[in-house]
Amino acid sequence: MFTTSTLFINRQVLNSNFVFLRRHLGPNVTISSVIKGNAYGHGIEEFVPLAESCGIRHFSVFNADEAFRAYNSSIKKSTILIMGMIENQDLRWAIEHDIEFFVFEMDRLQHALALAKEIGKAARLHVEVETGMNRTGFTNSELTRVIRLLKDNPGHYILEGFCTHYAGAESIANHARIKMQIRRYRSAYKKVVSHGIIPKKRHTACSASAFSYPETIMDMVRIGIMQYGFWPSIETFINFVGKKTQKEDPLQRALSWKSKIMSTKTVKTGEFIGYGTSFIARSTMKIATIPVGYSHGYSRSLSYQGRVLIRGQRVDVIGIVNMNLLIARITDVPEAKKDDEVVLIGRQGDAEITVASFGDFSNQLNYELLTRLPANIPRVITVD
Ligand SMILES: *Cc1c(COP(=O)(O)O)cnc(C)c1O
Repeated sequence: MFTTSTLFINRQVLNSNFVFLRRHLGPNVTISSVIKGNAYGHGIEEFVPLAESCGIRHFSVFNADEAFRAYNSSIKKSTILIMGMIENQDLRWAIEHDIEFFVFEMDRLQHALALAKEIGKAARLHVEVETGMNRTGFTNSELTRVIRLLKDNPGHYILEGFCTHYAGAESIANHARIKMQIRRYRSAYKKVVSHGIIPKKRHTACSASAFSYPETIMDMVRIGIMQYGFWPSIETFINFVGKKTQKEDPLQRALSWKSKIMSTKTVKTGEFIGYGTSFIARSTMKIATIPVGYSHGYSRSLSYQGRVLIRGQRVDVIGIVNMNLLIARITDVPEAKKDDEVVLIGRQGDAEITVASFGDFSNQLNYELLTRLPANIPRVITVD
């Protein structure tokens, strides 16, 4: 109600993506569903119970706010893991509510252990080690101090995980670096185990590494983009289908984005359309205005380039994407009229607009476009 577009998430499609992922990963691997960035735009509140209905019981978020939202959306008491930011002042809430979190620097680890002692409840820790991404993670010498600290505080922590993150497993250009990271991770793991500290889960893989480097799968994988139906890169997809006889994409996009025609108009030859002089009607042209613009997450960079679906046909976005609306050329769909459905992402009849087709076929754009979908567009779950 009162919104100019709607996002639909298809449960069947999501479930089939999870079925495919489980088949690839094997029965003994936990899937942690990565829902940072508002569940890659799908909406944490809608996505968590939906993923739970597909059997998921583990979610990874970036920060405490996302953890709070995921915690309140879970109806199956799923595990929630913070991979990034949590203020020391929020650690108490996390420990009290069994929220798990990465530790990658001494200050957080010390605070967590001290609080756990004070509260009388163990902190659920995932020790992240530096293996070559050089973002977060304990270096080898810090790890020696971590081991000592853990040994000095038995009973105040549960070592839920031992983890790292790869620096670009979706591109073959990083092959040597990823292989090095795997070696460093294994050696760090051996080190903690040799001190009698046994993590419950080893986890290092994101979507790309779980497919291109199967040895990274271990006990748990943190799957983001692929559960939503997107490959992390074209390379990852080609690498996967290259080994198969079946070349079809096993993933499907769970999300679609729809609006309606706000009004239509006929413009005479030689008239400019929209702001300024950037678009001129070269012949008599029928246009439709659609109430979605860059303020709704439809990037201005799609000016002149975007495509939308109307009555099963792919039509061009013409002129510049405005703050609140865009204009589509519907000369070839003369029967199009006010209130007709407009598909911005997704299927209509046999035609489909994919997110990647929005920008240069660059799959990195999938991540960005999805996470920029405004939180206030309603998310509606569909069954088929
Ligand atoms: C985002 C993220 C993931 C998931 O990455 P995808 O490419 O979307 O599968 C896994 N681990 C960490 C630490 C992340 O930040």
